[in-house]
Amino acid sequence: MSSTAPAWSERLNEAAAWRRAQGLWRERCTPPAGTIDFAGNDYLGLAGDPRLAEAQAAGARDYGAGAGASHLVSGHLEVHEALERRLAELVGRPRALLFSTGYMANLGTLQALCDSATQVFQDRLNHASLLDGAGLAGARSRRFHHRDLDDLDRLLARAASDSARLVVSDGVFSMDGDVANVAGLAEISARHGAWLMIDDAHGLGVLGAHGDGCVGRGHGVDRVPVLVGTLGKALGTAGAFVAGSEALIEHLIQFARPYVYTTAQPPGVAAATLAALDILAIEPERRERLRVSIAYFRHEAARLGLPLADSFTPIQPLVLGDAGRVMRWAARLGEAGLRVGAIRPPTVPRGEARLRITLRATHDRDSLDRLLETLARLHGEDGR
Ligand SMILES: *Cc1c(COP(=O)(O)O)cnc(C)c1O
Repeated sequence: MSSTAPAWSERLNEAAAWRRAQGLWRERCTPPAGTIDFAGNDYLGLAGDPRLAEAQAAGARDYGAGAGASHLVSGHLEVHEALERRLAELVGRPRALLFSTGYMANLGTLQALCDSATQVFQDRLNHASLLDGAGLAGARSRRFHHRDLDDLDRLLARAASDSARLVVSDGVFSMDGDVANVAGLAEISARHGAWLMIDDAHGLGVLGAHGDGCVGRGHGVDRVPVLVGTLGKALGTAGAFVAGSEALIEHLIQFARPYVYTTAQPPGVAAATLAALDILAIEPERRERLRVSIAYFRHEAARLGLPLADSFTPIQPLVLGDAGRVMRWAARLGEAGLRVGAIRPPTVPRGEARLRITLRATHDRDSLDRLLETLARLHGEDGR
């Protein structure tokens, strides 16, 4: 008996050929030593801070290199509990629940809150993990136009009124750097009896009077019942949390499979995050330095005629449109010792390939000038 199913090797070859033919082949990146990084999300420059490394080592010595089990078995250690309390405090919520990654926090939250009857409304530019989370729950996501409150209002008004509704948005959009209108989203959601979930992965640590993000203490749990923050970006470590009411957190502990069925985060990482939160509180000048750098970079870029997207966050996209052009510019910047993100479809819509330039508190003026000069040279060569 012979099968007509295509061989696995053929399927893989076809997929690879398809991606290469579109010029979208992806490769992992280890920047050479000495490269100045304008690609990462370490906005406050904390990932390399020796105080975090020390705290991580001490955490590992005190509690072990690994947690040894999931939170519900025996892996929920004192350091996790302490971190959850501090995170809840930071964002002004009754409780917070620690997840191993932001991707898992979003999967777990949406999977636990939704089922196939739930109506989910997502900004068109939401992070992939938010779409995947709704998918894991078997819920259909309706996409509203980016930051378009009228479009959301229309979709909610048209939707059947007999099932639970959840509005979901990034806080700071990861590829665009613009910020959701949280107050507007909260008002519309409340009016339609929907809950609002904001993923503030890129706002936490950077925005807000206390680094509490674009939601934080400014928009309470009554307005934004579900708040997600990640720890691998401005806080420099790894992991994520969901913050909200007692009832929400208990629901997630009961029902979020990506929470229940995984080993708790290594305790050293939690200890390092506690150190990062200390620094966030006692060194507000990091956020100030970042603001000054953003203003300087935008001012100089405008003078040089570089078409930056409209963003006041550390994410400063330069939309070049064509994926080939983006790869060429990124390679030339790389030769100059400057690493920027080269973002192509399917991460962004077709025709909107871009350099994703990110600024951090520890960039000095010379580094910014080097980046600006190289961008200006490439811009001139392209004759635009
Ligand atoms: C990075 C990111 C995530 C995923 O967080 P990880 O901790 O890296 O898994 C989720 N949401 C948004 C908006 C992000 O930018």
